[in-house]
Amino acid sequence: MASHIVGYPRMGPKRELKFALESFWDGKSTAEDLKKVAADLRSSIWKQMADAGIKYIPSNTFAYYDQVLDTTAMLGAVPSRYGWNGGEIGFDTYFSMARGNASVPAMEMTKWFDTNYHFIVPELGPDVNFSYASHKAVDEYKEAKALGVDTVPVLVGPVSYLLLSKPAKGVEKSFSLLSLLEKILPIYKEVVTELKAAGASWIQFDEPTLVKDLDSHQLHAFTSAYSELESSLSGVNVLIETYFADVPAKAFKTLTSLKGVTGFGFDLIRGTKTLDLIKGGFPSGKYLFAGVVDGRNIWANDLAGSLSILQSLEAIVGKDKLVVSTSCSLLHTAVDLVNETKLDKELKSWLAFAAQKVVEVNALAKALVGHQDEAFFSANAAAQASRKSSPRVTNEAVQKAAAALKGSDHRRATNVSARLDAQQKKLNLPVLPTTTIGSFPQTMELRRVRREYKAKKVSEENYINSIKEEIKKVVKLQEELDIDVLVHGEPERNDMVEYFGEQLSGFAFTVNGWVQSYGSRCVKPPIIYGDVSRPKPMTVFWSSMAQSMTARPMKGMLTGPVTILNWSFVRNDQPRFETCYQIALAIKDEVEDLEKAGINVIQIDEAALREGLPLRKSEEAFYLEWAVHSFRITNCGVQDTTQVHTHMCYSNFNDIIHSIIDMDADVITIENSRSDEKLLSVFREGVKYGAGIGPGVYDIHSPRIPSTDEIADRINKMLQVLETNILWVNPDCGLKTRKYTEVKPALLNMVAAAKLIRTQL
Ligand code: GLN
Ligand code: ZN
Repeated sequence: MASHIVGYPRMGPKRELKFALESFWDGKSTAEDLKKVAADLRSSIWKQMADAGIKYIPSNTFAYYDQVLDTTAMLGAVPSRYGWNGGEIGFDTYFSMARGNASVPAMEMTKWFDTNYHFIVPELGPDVNFSYASHKAVDEYKEAKALGVDTVPVLVGPVSYLLLSKPAKGVEKSFSLLSLLEKILPIYKEVVTELKAAGASWIQFDEPTLVKDLDSHQLHAFTSAYSELESSLSGVNVLIETYFADVPAKAFKTLTSLKGVTGFGFDLIRGTKTLDLIKGGFPSGKYLFAGVVDGRNIWANDLAGSLSILQSLEAIVGKDKLVVSTSCSLLHTAVDLVNETKLDKELKSWLAFAAQKVVEVNALAKALVGHQDEAFFSANAAAQASRKSSPRVTNEAVQKAAAALKGSDHRRATNVSARLDAQQKKLNLPVLPTTTIGSFPQTMELRRVRREYKAKKVSEENYINSIKEEIKKVVKLQEELDIDVLVHGEPERNDMVEYFGEQLSGFAFTVNGWVQSYGSRCVKPPIIYGDVSRPKPMTVFWSSMAQSMTARPMKGMLTGPVTILNWSFVRNDQPRFETCYQIALAIKDEVEDLEKAGINVIQIDEAALREGLPLRKSEEAFYLEWAVHSFRITNCGVQDTTQVHTHMCYSNFNDIIHSIIDMDADVITIENSRSDEKLLSVFREGVKYGAGIGPGVYDIHSPRIPSTDEIADRINKMLQVLETNILWVNPDCGLKTRKYTEVKPALLNMVAAAKLIRTQL
């Protein structure tokens, strides 16, 4: 009976690691304190898996910050600016790379495939002196062994490591990162040798880049890397783990022909073609690690369904070669359902977090060898059935309305330039109109009021008054600053997705369902479990209150359907686009109610549209088609004179510029200040853009206050590529995380810059 877990969350069931890290960074506790918390977490995770009966238990999936950064440390690939002088890498160097220090900024962070986890991007060039500088993988293996648990040490595979790296600053464009393979493999060999000496009988190499679109040169790197490692790997079993999608057919061939490898791990949840690939040819005598338990979601497994898939695989690879596994590391799901005190029993019976998934994997493995836990399986079947038939899940009217959207087009009748003219007649804005993205600083006091209102410690009346006072303050400030299009500041919102989820039907919220986003930062995605509908207006009360305080246009602020979808745990019983269409219909009702209430400018944020882009090129068009369609559904019903804005956070969207134009918003504001050239180059290259556009003129992620000249400079640069009459002036993103002492002078300079340029036109 064989069961395996690809990886496990590190934060702890109550975010213990987060608090230990932050306290250490703040100088409130020692390195020893931090190490103790980490060791306790690791040992409880190992014990939990061992007690559940898991055969292949991972080690080295713990990280103080990030597993890719751990690999950078293992290879001694520390960029020179951190002043590391060799020796074993300690917290100082490690956390400086992760977070920067007083004199040096951090290394770049980017999204781990299409998850919300962010890794630290290795910076490599021809003169990096690789050396074996962190023995963490071996130490963790020994640590587990001392606790009586024989684990499978997990390493980020050498080829994926290089493919996920970027060339260091100043390194020529022609430099091939893969050329570094021969320099890092000797270190991998040392690690393998030490692991073998310590007693490891299996080693797992994570090579998830195999699921991407790789060219033959990149694929060849896998072949040469593992042939090079083959002799070191003799005497130990080697698992190559892939996840997040199916491995394309050509890569599948390369992968399954690798030398020195004993087993292959595949994602059978997202990898829709994985089954066919395996059926089409799996090397005989090798182990198949079948990822049938979803590591990316929070739903209980359909055990009967999984069992029948496993049985069909068993027929191909043989009884003793099949291992039941998770689709990917459980890092991307919540930790333990046991701590959910507020979810009702029925809903809870539909869910499984990491701790429960471990049990599911083991139950499946046991069932395969004829020891099916009947009680467990029948409880699971009953929960599956109740989820299928529950009236909480299905709302016929919503299903019908969403189904009717498919295949049809939704667009505003008039084209964007005519609409902008009609809007300008009504709004009468100056050229280069100024605005902000929505939120204003959230003070401790504000958070307290919201928290106490939620806990029913503050009456509704008092709560409304406090929020109203806050809005008044924000409106007055914007008028004093002479901003043209105002916002109410979003003081009533804790989070831009949660706020809407709490008011829509079909959503549930956890108390401890945290998932690591980067470092110590975690997010708590809402769970969309049923058909989505809007029982009543969600923002009209606050937006019309705010509009009544000023003669200037007040933007209504909404989160768009694609962003709500991408930042939630979504249903796995219908395609993503169907859920998205349902949310779009709910937001559409809100847009129309805002318009009726006299709000003439409505911003629908699609902060996360770009990040939902699938991993493979072949799937992009379909995603963009329904995502952009969903956005248009929300506002296709408004009058020409109502101005629809959207906002996007991720500036790296040159590749999807045509989809962005196809969203057909009247105005788009975008994060830009950290990558000026990138964005503007699209327009320089001649992409026609007729709608309003506000590339952020300063970075809100930094406390730094930009000067008027600096902002004016930026605006001038933009004017070189964009028509004067479409350019807006605004910061990069919401101001929620900043202080008023930063926001006031920054906005003052921003407005001054816009005014200065207006006089020069
Ligand atoms: N309107 C939101 C705000 O200003 C947008 C946040 C975002 O783009 N992430 O906070
Ligand atoms: Zn943003």
